[in-house]
Amino acid sequence: MSTDYTEALAHVNTASRPSDLRITDMKIADISGAPMHCIMLKLETNQGITGYGEVRDWSYKDYALMLKARLLGENPCEIDRIFRKIRQLGTHARGAGGVSAVEIALWDIAAKAYGVPIYQMLGGKHRDKVRVYCDTDIDGKPDGKRMGAALQARLDAGFTFLKMDLGIDLIYDVPGALSAPLGFVEQLKSVHGVGGYDGTIEERYEAHRRERLNTIEHPYTAIQITEKGLDWLEQYCADVRSVIGYEVPLAIDHLGHIGVNEAIKLGRRIEKFNIAWMEDAVPWMYTDQYRLLQQSIQIPVCTGEDIYLHENFKPLLESGGVQVIHPDILTVGGIGELKKTADLADEYHVAMAVHMAETPIAALAAAHVGIASVNLLAQEFHSFDVPWWNDLVEGPAKPIVDHGFITLSDAPGLGIESLNDEVIAEHLHPAVPGIWESTDAWNTRYVHDRIWS
Ligand SMILES: [Mg+2]
Repeated sequence: MSTDYTEALAHVNTASRPSDLRITDMKIADISGAPMHCIMLKLETNQGITGYGEVRDWSYKDYALMLKARLLGENPCEIDRIFRKIRQLGTHARGAGGVSAVEIALWDIAAKAYGVPIYQMLGGKHRDKVRVYCDTDIDGKPDGKRMGAALQARLDAGFTFLKMDLGIDLIYDVPGALSAPLGFVEQLKSVHGVGGYDGTIEERYEAHRRERLNTIEHPYTAIQITEKGLDWLEQYCADVRSVIGYEVPLAIDHLGHIGVNEAIKLGRRIEKFNIAWMEDAVPWMYTDQYRLLQQSIQIPVCTGEDIYLHENFKPLLESGGVQVIHPDILTVGGIGELKKTADLADEYHVAMAVHMAETPIAALAAAHVGIASVNLLAQEFHSFDVPWWNDLVEGPAKPIVDHGFITLSDAPGLGIESLNDEVIAEHLHPAVPGIWESTDAWNTRYVHDRIWS
């Protein structure tokens, strides 16, 4: 029998010659107002196939660029091997942005080279379409009826799963609602948003001081919610439910930096409102406190948007501290790690919701995993009110999130044919201008970065 497969291979239907593929370049564009600062990435190859990826929102492109020299000349189809080479250069939250962006682009290239959608490479569909939940904010004075109306507008647009913020910032101005070291709440009220690193040395020093306030971990703030504060938050939930009814799932997020006892007190007050999950009540690495919280309230406890690599979900899952995990594909390490995280959670009978606050690249990448994962509840969407969000990419049916669901086509890869440079150019980040500029300055660095000898 002949062992020369040349003739057979000539009839294999591939979109390219996968074994001869090589990574030749990396290009990046930063946009703002999506509504986040988002960082879109392209990996180019010697066969004209481009892979799309994205660095986590509110991050920086250098996290990806520092990987470039390690990628040039690699075969992008060798996804797992390349991921094992670069994963040591990521860390939790935004620090995983570069590794995750590259990993997604590798899957996109490989799937295009072999002519299949990514979900098929992950084992195929568990559902026809991915349910999407819409995080919802209101401006101005906190008011449960107005939040209810904003959520009702999401229902009217076809969404079938909702989330809102329910935190101590709602009651900062309610007299007697919080107890804390006197003056501390006033200090917290003066700190808003994500800072940058610029200005004079003294201006930077002040910025670091403000940042310190924002990053005091929950047990160290000594903020407690009074009975009056709990009454207020309970009434807020009652007002929300009076508008949207009780039939739709409603998750809560952004409790503020309160300790686990306060989260338990709040949880017990609002169990009656059928809360779909309580998110990030304390830092995700507080495994014992998560177990205590989950054992103390009749609300599914959820965390995970800042966790890098699937194995770092294991302590939480083993402890029984969560009933919902909430990874972000741009932090967990990309497509392969999100799928491993979903399957690991399934072993513990824990559901997965997917955090997502980025462009259609991340939305579609997450949806490919979600459609192929047995335990998906819903995927997040922050950009319902951004009119140009869909226009960033060409290929998928528009709107990409249609009446609360993402449907994936049979197109290869992520299903993105091209990016729309005109739309990207209109929304470039003012502090990080330039679109797909040369990154040759990052071509030749070498670091002996193996982690064993
Ligand atoms: Mg969150």
